[in-house]
Amino acid sequence: MTFQFLGTGTSVGVPQIGCRCPVCTSGDPRDRRRRCGALIRTGEVAFLVDTPPEMREACIEYGVDRVDAVCLTHAHMDHVAGFDDLRRFNTLNGGAPMRCFAMDETIEQMHRIFPYISNRKNEMGLFRPMINFVSNGKPFTIGDVAIERLAVEHSFPCCGYLFTSPDGARLAYISDCHEIPDETVARIEGADTLVLNCLRERPHPTHLNMAAALGYISRIQPGRAFLTHMCHDLSHMEWLSKLPKGVEPAYDGLVLET
Ligand SMILES: [Zn+2]
Ligand SMILES: [Zn+2]
Ligand SMILES: [Zn+2]
Repeated sequence: MTFQFLGTGTSVGVPQIGCRCPVCTSGDPRDRRRRCGALIRTGEVAFLVDTPPEMREACIEYGVDRVDAVCLTHAHMDHVAGFDDLRRFNTLNGGAPMRCFAMDETIEQMHRIFPYISNRKNEMGLFRPMINFVSNGKPFTIGDVAIERLAVEHSFPCCGYLFTSPDGARLAYISDCHEIPDETVARIEGADTLVLNCLRERPHPTHLNMAAALGYISRIQPGRAFLTHMCHDLSHMEWLSKLPKGVEPAYDGLVLET
C-alpha cells in the first residue's frame, strides 16, 4: 500500500494570498502546501481521503488516473471544495457511481453544500458527480484495505481514519483536531505510521499545535510520524530542525510505502 500526500497545508494554503513572509515567498517546493488530501493505492484499488480545492491540480501533477472511492474526514471547505471534480473519475470509471464514505452528519452537510449530487446517470453529459454516500460508522473495506473511523474533537463533525494494508501495516490519519479522545489514542497505539495535524507552534482553538501534537505522538508511539495541515509560520527546514527523531513534516507529493 502507498499513501501519497496530495496536500499538507492549512485551510488558506501556503503561500497565503497576499502574504510576503519568508515561507510564503520561499523557493523550496516543500514550502508550497496545498489544502489537505491524500491518495491510497494498492495493487487492487486507489482511493482518496478528502477532495480539497486543489485536488484536480494535484491529480494531474502526480499522474492520478484512477480513483475507485473516497473517504471524507469532514465537510469543512478546505477538505471538500474539489468534490465536483470527481466527475472526471466517474467518466474514467465508465460512468459508474463512486462510493463516498463519511459520517452521517458529513453526508447531510455534503447534500446541503452540493445539492445537485446524484447517484443516477446524467442524461446530457456528466454535469454532476455520481456518488453513492455510505455511512462510515462501522468498519469497512475498500478493495483490500480495511478501514475504520477514528473519533476526534474538532468543534465540528469530523473523524480520522485507520487504514490497514493487505499485509497488516496500520496507518492512522488525523488531519483536523484539537483533541484526540483516549479511546482513539488506545486504538492507534503502536501504529506503523501516524499522520497528524499540526498547525504551528502557537496554540489554536481547533487544531493541534506542536507541543500538543508531540504529546500525542509520545503517547501513541507510532513507528514513524508525519505532520500535516501546517500554516506558514515555519518552513519545511525549520520544522525539521525543531522536531525530534521519528517525526517529520510531510510535504505535497510525498509518498509513504507501508
Ligand atoms: Zn482542515
Ligand atoms: Zn506567509
Ligand atoms: Zn476542519
